Amino acid sequence: MASQVKPHAGSIANTEPNIRDVQHTTAAIVGGGPAGAVLALLLARKGIPVTLLESHMDFDRDFRGDTIHPAVMELLDELGLAQRLLELHHTKLKSATLPTPRGPLTLAPFRRLKTRFPYITMLPQADFLRFVTDEAGRYPNFRLAMGARVEQLVMEHGVVRGVRYQSPDGWHELRATLTFGADGRFSRLRKLAGLAAIKTSPPMDVLWFRLPRKLGEGEDIMGRFGNGHMLIMLNRQETWQAAFVILKASYGKLHAAGLPALRQAIAELMPEFADRVEHLQDWKQISLLSVESDRLQRWYQPGLLLIGDAAHVMSPVGGVGINYAIQDAVVAANILTQPLKAGNVQLRHLRSVQRRREWPVRIVQALQSLGQRRIVANALNPGKTFRVPELLQILSRVPVLRDLPGRFLAYGVWPVHLQP
Ligand SMILES: Cc1cc2nc3c(=O)[nH]c(=O)nc-3n(C[C@H](O)[C@H](O)[C@H](O)COP(=O)(O)OP(=O)(O)OC[C@H]3O[C@@H](n4cnc5c(N)ncnc54)[C@H](O)[C@@H]3O)c2cc1C
Repeated sequence: MASQVKPHAGSIANTEPNIRDVQHTTAAIVGGGPAGAVLALLLARKGIPVTLLESHMDFDRDFRGDTIHPAVMELLDELGLAQRLLELHHTKLKSATLPTPRGPLTLAPFRRLKTRFPYITMLPQADFLRFVTDEAGRYPNFRLAMGARVEQLVMEHGVVRGVRYQSPDGWHELRATLTFGADGRFSRLRKLAGLAAIKTSPPMDVLWFRLPRKLGEGEDIMGRFGNGHMLIMLNRQETWQAAFVILKASYGKLHAAGLPALRQAIAELMPEFADRVEHLQDWKQISLLSVESDRLQRWYQPGLLLIGDAAHVMSPVGGVGINYAIQDAVVAANILTQPLKAGNVQLRHLRSVQRRREWPVRIVQALQSLGQRRIVANALNPGKTFRVPELLQILSRVPVLRDLPGRFLAYGVWPVHLQP
């Protein structure tokens, strides 16, 4: 029987569990989300032994980011996978709009981008992750362990030498040249390594739920502001995935007011959904996302590199989290493939990954923070009449500027490509 081990946050657990076996690999990747799965594929195709550890038994998750941006489509195209991905059941978002009291303001018409993929591909994240890991599975040097929850770091003389994880059959140790923490916004590895984060305070939380979608209803994203709330509807084929944006920490009050009040608030914001709000019969149908935003001061320590949400939790504003997580993976693969092959990963390589990615993250987080203060906080203030900020109006009207938001959403601060 495996012994019970509860490592403390911020410290490296030293309790020895009952280890069944010690495995070896070159790259141990913790977390099978977009960052971890894509990194595993990129390293596996270079012949590097990779083990991907995912704590869940499957990839099926509700209410996760399901957006694949043009940057990621181009990456998949470089890998020869884009057409096959597009054969999966998906929808295409051809422009990004900001809901305003006067109707939607088109901020990013993707059709003007010079790309073969001038749209955001909306695909359930689980399908995307299965697609990427199936592709990685074609390489004999790739191993995927599902239901493998990493609980401890293996430390030797201040260097991370791998991880210990718990599977349904007990504890295992995985030793690696380099360990990647791609374990998302509640990163265990971040805590175990004691890496410090700089936090910002988004003013909102989001309630996610689904409402039925009628045949022939519009394909595009819909949104509305009013009465101190914001409601955004994403087309998920058979259903609408709704994001009901509320003031931070106001969930308790909303819950106390009861489901009928929530249904009424939805119907008032979007009367076209009044005939469907009865679908919400239980709070269990509603998932609360506590919106956070932060970034690590240092993304690495000897033997360990954090990427994706584990290194920088992204606010949902702009829906760029997946794009950034995958771009981290591409930069990490570009910089680390040769050192991993040579078995000689040095701190300067890890530092170099952070340097390449930190500024894009800082810039986008600063813009998200601005959007949260200027747009979201205003929209959530029932006492204020919402006005679209002047800058956005200018951006959407002036011909030389109007493609900037689209480019920014599609590619991030600067495009990231695979090194040949
Ligand atoms: C409700 C919601 C909606 C969102 N909508 C969007 C959107 O529309 N567009 C967008 O771009 N972004 C969106 N995001 C953000 C986006 O999902 C993240 O930025 C992105 O998934 C980060 O990818 P990641 O691979 O770094 O981490 P994650 O996707 O969080 O993946 C981390 C993985 O690690 C696993 N894991 C965690 N701990 C361990 C452990 N100890 N051992 C092993 N495995 C572990 C988890 O199970 C998970 O599979 C949304 C986020 C949420 C929560």
